[in-house]
Amino acid sequence: MITTITLNPSVDRRYVVQDFQVGNLFRTHQFEATAGGKGLNVARVIKQFGEDVLTTGFIGGKNGEFILEQLTEQGIKNDFIQITGETRNCIAILSKDVVQTEILESGPKVTSEQIELFLQKYERILQDSSVLVASGSLPEGVPESMYYELIIRAKKKGKPFILDTSGSALREGLNASPFLIKPNKSELELLMNRPIESEEEIIKAAKEISQNGVEFVVVSLGSDGAIIIHKDLGYKVKIPKIEVKNPVGSGDSMVAGLAIGLYKNYGIEDMLKLGVACGTANAMEIGTGQIRKANVESMFKNVKVEKIKVLNSLK
Ligand code: ATP
Repeated sequence: MITTITLNPSVDRRYVVQDFQVGNLFRTHQFEATAGGKGLNVARVIKQFGEDVLTTGFIGGKNGEFILEQLTEQGIKNDFIQITGETRNCIAILSKDVVQTEILESGPKVTSEQIELFLQKYERILQDSSVLVASGSLPEGVPESMYYELIIRAKKKGKPFILDTSGSALREGLNASPFLIKPNKSELELLMNRPIESEEEIIKAAKEISQNGVEFVVVSLGSDGAIIIHKDLGYKVKIPKIEVKNPVGSGDSMVAGLAIGLYKNYGIEDMLKLGVACGTANAMEIGTGQIRKANVESMFKNVKVEKIKVLNSLK
């Protein structure tokens, strides 16, 4: 089983307002609320692909109940720690030309007792999980070192851990050398604290990270596909042109594909292809963190992986 960890889930409320502008009043019939937070998107895509998935984290209040109902309806197993605060809302306004405006609540405060309960639950979950995926921000009260702690515990049990977060949560998590990380270009720039423009600069930055023990550094590049560093090897994955409906959640879908590839013991190139195929299949849908398996399968046949040169100048 694959387990996805969402410590700060959300109810994602999406409104379609074609002519959206700041300071005006708009009415819309096109809106929906879904169980969200990056790890829940990952879980949904894994499930839509047809694989067994469990999702965990902290959840509370009416929004928490809504999320649990949705997960149950979608057949996604869940085992959360209940907290007293209310799970947050994240609002996205989709306007013309696929422009998205987002307002993200910071989320409820988690207590040290709730963190301890989560860690006890996590030890049990680790026994039954083959691959762990942690995504997104940390809620208030949870220390920056949380992902570090989760990765170390997974490593002790020999379980690969995929970390998809940013900022200081990523920086701290990297000290435990997760198996795979998937920054996009701006997350990579934030991490390296320098602008990264060219392919050479992406490769150099990814190589620096991989030399600290991260097995796979997957840099996602939107419609330009991805560049991946694995030890001394480098790969570039290119995608065909598609009709983009909504690329939001493509990163989470890509993580889902990588986790499935890992879980199913795919070879490196096929695992990377499946990740990119899931990301691209999500961009073909209007919903966030949604794929159609048939689209993933056709993308899998059409994405191209090539080996790229990685200079070992840092050795
Ligand atoms: P998000 O934060 O919205 O989840 P991200 O910034 O983490 O996304 P991206 O680099 O935008 O991740 O996308 C991940 C993968 O999804 C890409 O490598 C690519 O395969 C696919 N993808 C994203 N945007 C597009 C697009 N416009 N056209 C085709 N494929 C796309």
